[in-house]
Amino acid sequence: MLQVAFLGLGAIGRPMARRIGAAGFPLTVWNRTADRARAFAGEIGARHAQTADNAVRDADVVVTCLSTSTDVDQVIDSRVAAAFKNGATLLDCTSGDPATSRRIAEKVAHRSVAFIDAPVSGGVRGAEEGTLTVMCGGDARDLERVRPVIEAFGKKIVHCGPIGAGDAVKAMNQALLALTIWGTGEALVALSKLGVSAQVALDVINASSGRSNASMNLFPERVLTRAFPRTFRLALLDKDARIAAQIARDERVPAPLTQLAADLCSLARKDLGEEADHVEAVKVIEHWAGAEVR
Ligand code: NDP
Repeated sequence: MLQVAFLGLGAIGRPMARRIGAAGFPLTVWNRTADRARAFAGEIGARHAQTADNAVRDADVVVTCLSTSTDVDQVIDSRVAAAFKNGATLLDCTSGDPATSRRIAEKVAHRSVAFIDAPVSGGVRGAEEGTLTVMCGGDARDLERVRPVIEAFGKKIVHCGPIGAGDAVKAMNQALLALTIWGTGEALVALSKLGVSAQVALDVINASSGRSNASMNLFPERVLTRAFPRTFRLALLDKDARIAAQIARDERVPAPLTQLAADLCSLARKDLGEEADHVEAVKVIEHWAGAEVR
């Protein structure tokens, strides 16, 4: 059985780690805020490590799920990189940026440690149910070695290309998510002002060509109910959309909509703060329009 270390017990890291433990892999957990890791380890019967280097020492697979690639780069510093077991794999499930992922991969390569960027999609519920989509960058043989661990939380596991390819696909997906949230929000606020109920409008749109995950799931479950549960921070979507815009710039692809997604996310983040959920961005449109989606 592969020994697993899981670093980063945030909103999505916790259910992912829980599933890895439940699948029977011997599991060690670490989190920057140690109290969180200690409580979580007690809850699921995992080992808790006080430091990141202690966490990775005996692991065959080290899973990281932190906010940004820069955070991963900081946590996997030279001391932690030196503590890796020879031949281990660093499976980074952070929604990261390709350039930083390539740098981290180089840092651990001297210990013959393989690196796979493996960001996920499907939200906290998908993590709890083990149905995440996992988009992977790296060597295909390295991916096969750690596939059993990914299967504990992922259903659709796709090899996208070399290191950074998973990050790139994820960033573009997120820019599309931001655009559909924003576009659906504009449409429904305008229709609400016009006197068409959002419920009726969504009923039509979801049977028509303008539908999306935003219109089919996020708006009915989170906006119409005014529940706005905090499962995925707007600050993280802002980070993702900015990665997407940077990739387009690096590849010299004119991408005004991707840039707009990034600009709108940054603006909403400034307005609503670091803890707001991504769907709460709709509140900015409502505020500008002086009307709610109803
Ligand atoms: P959270 O904000 O809930 O948690 C962030 C985690 O990263 C915490 O464990 C935090 O530690 C840790 N962290 C942040 N900065 C550092 C640092 N400098 N050093 C050490 N640890 C750090 O984020 P999520 O769990 O929601 O997201 C994690 C990743 O997964 C992100 O890249 C996100 O974009 C992606 N993602 C999230 C989804 C979701 O639905 N939530 C869906 C798909 C992808 P501490 O507890 O100490 O603050």
